[in-house]
Amino acid sequence: MYYNDETVVFLNGEFLKAKDAVAGVYNQTMHYGNGVFEGIRSYDTPDGIRIFKAKEHYDRLHYSAKKMHIELPYTSEELEKMTYQVLEKNDLKDAYIRPLVYLGENMSLTPTNEVHVLIAAWSWGKYLGDNMLNVMLSSYQRPNPKSCHVQAKVVGHYTNSILATTEAKAKGFDEALLTDMNGNIAEGPGANFFFEKNGKLTTAPLGNILSGITRATVFELAKVLNIEVEERFFKPEEILTADAAFFCGTAAEVIGIKKFNNYEFPMKWEDSNSQLIQRAYKRRVSTNEYINVYL
Ligand code: PMP
Repeated sequence: MYYNDETVVFLNGEFLKAKDAVAGVYNQTMHYGNGVFEGIRSYDTPDGIRIFKAKEHYDRLHYSAKKMHIELPYTSEELEKMTYQVLEKNDLKDAYIRPLVYLGENMSLTPTNEVHVLIAAWSWGKYLGDNMLNVMLSSYQRPNPKSCHVQAKVVGHYTNSILATTEAKAKGFDEALLTDMNGNIAEGPGANFFFEKNGKLTTAPLGNILSGITRATVFELAKVLNIEVEERFFKPEEILTADAAFFCGTAAEVIGIKKFNNYEFPMKWEDSNSQLIQRAYKRRVSTNEYINVYL
């Protein structure tokens, strides 16, 4: 699904076949989860293939690496350039891009000097599908920011996401929504969360969540569309009084939520500001991002 015999990846300064890209079994990322990554999308726009917000993603990769004491040997500009080459070599247009920074041999709990950089890409539909979602309140909480750097996209953090999604699917839901360590709504396992009430959008503030690049794009679009957005803490119960809700993230894009804990959002999706944001996001990424065509 992710690669075939012809697929090319970037690994440590060279382009090679995915089937020939191997990692050592004593690498620290595999044993302890110390590695950082990104999830990026490219779009086939009228002006050619564009990686959406490449700089923001690679700057976040640098931030994540720094927090984990990893020396990233390439600048954001270099990484962007190499990513365009990966797309070109694989003849990919609308693609999902996965840069992964993993470490060399080190069985101690100390920083590792050997740093490997992989950039892979493949065609991937929307991560959470195209249908409105049935979401449950997770029994898991997002990691406490005093136990890790929640704004860093660290490999090991995703064990929490896997537990939450697995629990939700086992119970017949599409996806989970997690609280923070204080019981406020934080985010999904791989996406940020917004709800809509009387036209206004509300989302959790930074501090206990990943600072989503899609979340920031939603803020930009809401401003242009004159939709009010508020960042504040709120409890799960408040969602049960909302008109509409959605998840947003690079892989999922903007996807509406039909039900939360069996409460069905009463507003027709077509009538919601959330749907305006969804449509505007699609336009924003699939046209040249530098042109202000939102509607
Ligand atoms: N929260 C989590 C936990 C995520 O994994 C992601 C996906 N990177 C997001 C939010 C959304 O972030 P972005 O919009 O930058 O993809």
